[in-house]
Amino acid sequence: MKDIAEIRADFPILKRKVYGKPLVYFDNGATTQKPQCVIDTVDEVYESYNGNIHRGVHFLSDMSSEAYEKAREKVRSFINADKREEIVFTSGTTGSINGIAFSFGEQYIKPGDEIILSQLEHHANIVPWQMMCERKGAVLRVIPINDNGEIILEEYYKLLSSKTRLVSVTQASNALGTILPVKEIIAAAHHINVPVLIDGAQGVQHGIVDVKAMDCDFYVFSGHKIYGPNGIGILYGKEKWLSGLPPFQGGGDMVDKVTFEKTTYNELPFKFEAGTMNYPAAIGLASALDYVSDIGRENIASREKELLSYATSRLSAIEGVKIYGSSDMKISTISFHIKDIHQYDTGMILDKMGIAVRTGTHCAQPVMDHYGIEGTVRASLCFYNTKEEIDTLAEGIEKVKSMFA
Ligand code: PLP
Repeated sequence: MKDIAEIRADFPILKRKVYGKPLVYFDNGATTQKPQCVIDTVDEVYESYNGNIHRGVHFLSDMSSEAYEKAREKVRSFINADKREEIVFTSGTTGSINGIAFSFGEQYIKPGDEIILSQLEHHANIVPWQMMCERKGAVLRVIPINDNGEIILEEYYKLLSSKTRLVSVTQASNALGTILPVKEIIAAAHHINVPVLIDGAQGVQHGIVDVKAMDCDFYVFSGHKIYGPNGIGILYGKEKWLSGLPPFQGGGDMVDKVTFEKTTYNELPFKFEAGTMNYPAAIGLASALDYVSDIGRENIASREKELLSYATSRLSAIEGVKIYGSSDMKISTISFHIKDIHQYDTGMILDKMGIAVRTGTHCAQPVMDHYGIEGTVRASLCFYNTKEEIDTLAEGIEKVKSMFA
């Protein structure tokens, strides 16, 4: 594995200062920074072969189309899907879930049917299902969590019934860091022939994802959270599901034959890719996946585990700091609160020290409701962070406390 100085040198933004202080970027759960190779790849598309994909007969369009389809193949192999037809490009996790919620709802949902989610979900994995339930007269059922921030599996098993049509859960909580037991969740749902969608927005960047081994029916993630460009995401679906679902958007490229009487649709995966897709970002995402593979996904996971453990012991040793989410299985995300100090004040003061954290509900209000709190401060770490940066955060927290003392 490259050493940490070499890794950090790959990310130009990490060199910059904020308010004259070295940047400490601990908001990786919201979006990750980009290595130079990703920036260069996207630049190269625009500088040397930009042409709309799949439509042109000209050289540039051919080149762009080829790079776009190669990116699809890269994603397929990265998550170990069976076929390229199972990889759909979207605008991001939100786009993927909205698409499936719409299509699945249209095809399979009747009044009284149930969709199971967990209390750890990001709003992106709640609201699209809620909208679909309102349209179709279906009902959301929610797996509760315990005070460690873990889902209560026994309660999940009780929720599964002949009314369940789909289970949609996150691989890891963006608000607390908890990793969910997705294999158990999927196995129990499959036992009664119910498909499962896994929201991988906080999973894919932290370790190896193998959709075949996991046996999920759908897997979604965002390029920008795995060191890739913004505006691109992935919807993986088993072919047996995707082939039976209607498109969620209509337009160019997703069609086979169009007349005013009737339109027939393109084959997979194109039937789900209407209009001009964000091909420069898809090609940039392939470059990000190459970068992650070069660093090594086991290496990333073990480095992040070490950072999490160091940060947990540093922060929990500070009097007045309460950490939310104490599962043994966590990604490198720590949510905390300093006694008697509002999270926005903490976040704003840390910012002036060059430390970027996120504050608030983290788009996961039901998690905050469980604890009866308004929000937390969240430090989401990744492999390019260092123990020295964690020390800077710990010193920053002490300073915040002294300002409010
Ligand atoms: N799901 C989870 C668990 C997330 O953490 C996020 C973003 O933070 C999303 C979904 C939505 O991702 P995006 O905004 O990239 O669509």
